[in-house]
Amino acid sequence: MEVIVNTLRKSFATNLTKSYEWRSAQLLAIEKLLDENQTELLDALKQDLNKPNQESIVLEISLIKNGIVHCLKNLKTWVQPQKVNPIFQARAVYSTYIQYQPLGVCLIIGAWNYPLMLTLVPLVGALASGNCAVVKPSELSPNTAKVLEKLLPKYIDSDFVRVVNGGVPETTKLLEQKFDHIFYTGNGTVGRIVMQAAAKHMTPVVLECGGKSPVYIDETADLLVTAKRLAWGKFANAGQTCIAPDYILCTKETQEKILPFLKQVFEEFYGDSVKKSDSYARIVNERHFDRILNLIDQSKVVVGGESDKSQKFIAPTVMFNVTPEDKVMSEEIFGPVLPFITVNNRQEAIDFINSRDKPLALYVFANDDKIYEDFQNNTTSGSFGYNDVLVQVGFECVPFGGVGESGIGNYHGKFSIDTFSHQRAVLKTSFFGDSLSYFRYPPYSESKTNK
Ligand code: NAD
Repeated sequence: MEVIVNTLRKSFATNLTKSYEWRSAQLLAIEKLLDENQTELLDALKQDLNKPNQESIVLEISLIKNGIVHCLKNLKTWVQPQKVNPIFQARAVYSTYIQYQPLGVCLIIGAWNYPLMLTLVPLVGALASGNCAVVKPSELSPNTAKVLEKLLPKYIDSDFVRVVNGGVPETTKLLEQKFDHIFYTGNGTVGRIVMQAAAKHMTPVVLECGGKSPVYIDETADLLVTAKRLAWGKFANAGQTCIAPDYILCTKETQEKILPFLKQVFEEFYGDSVKKSDSYARIVNERHFDRILNLIDQSKVVVGGESDKSQKFIAPTVMFNVTPEDKVMSEEIFGPVLPFITVNNRQEAIDFINSRDKPLALYVFANDDKIYEDFQNNTTSGSFGYNDVLVQVGFECVPFGGVGESGIGNYHGKFSIDTFSHQRAVLKTSFFGDSLSYFRYPPYSESKTNK
């Protein structure tokens, strides 16, 4: 690990990575990698998660490519020193700038649920900012990890970017090295380990974690559209999505009213048999399969509930009349189980959300801007979706990241450049006009102090 980091450090010291030409060439190389190897990448994602090709294309490959296109369009402007105006009295003598400087060698630790997107999108940000990087894909999606290890060196000089594969021992060794930035995606327990290791070297971190993302459904919502968007966002990748709706808050009446719409949507999405459908992923491994199954209380299941360990299959499952004490509410579900908790009104929903950890995402379905404003002004979350779920991940113009337990820092678009750069304050003046600032020099006096 030490040799790898030293190699990258030497490459960074050549200053090659700082030019716009180098940066844009690396982004184009990643785009080319995705274009020339799409079939192999789709196969790897299928082996790891039985990910349907459409989900792999829409929620992994296209997101990376759109990010590259957006970044290439704006990179020249983003990385130029930004002129900022000081206060009026200082303008005649001083010019001020924010200079975006690459940090050096970054470590990117990815998670298994979107193993391509969660490694390559941060890598795009790191390279666009002029850094070198070590990429550590998750060992729980080994096929995608192997493909990344094989392909990346074919497209990007391995003196500048290295893939290190392995599990806890390898990551622990990596974390002993001094990096200039660590970008981690995964659970909060390991996030704390990463932060502790980073503290030793005073290395800045971004922690992209998760948590229980709530949804409030108001009685004014269009329940068919709500059911459709919810079911898509919750059951894509079999619920293994960090910003997937985790649980629903609504009144008892809304709970009853949405059920037929949910059943209709499941039928439309997956036909008679979800298990036979090509549009439904599988749970990543047996440990997670057992964990998710253990969260389901069959007496509260109104749709789904079936499972098959041999295929790591758990059907899209809806549970009604769940209470905060139920197991399913004790941890992030990260699987295809959607519990409903009933509340009497939206204030109760707001209080419930505020009594728990700050979520990664919060979604509200309603047809009334007063309700939207109420949630916007009285709750917090990494992101907030009104009448839609998940799609915020594709908008490069807004930051992606958590708050509190759901994470530290953010990325995407210009926010990736801010994350992977040092924003250096630059002040420029000439030798002219020094007499104007006579009052700062000793000997000090009351009249100078009051100037
Ligand atoms: P994981 O098991 O793949 O772990 C993430 C990374 O941490 C892996 O690369 C792994 O090798 C490394 N790791 C594991 N144990 C470690 C240790 N002891 N020391 C050092 N490194 C270690 O993924 P996970 O944690 O199961 O991911 C699921 C969680 O991640 C969920 O909470 C989910 O919400 C969250 N997540 C967040 C985002 C986001 O963008 N905010 C995206 C995806 C997942």
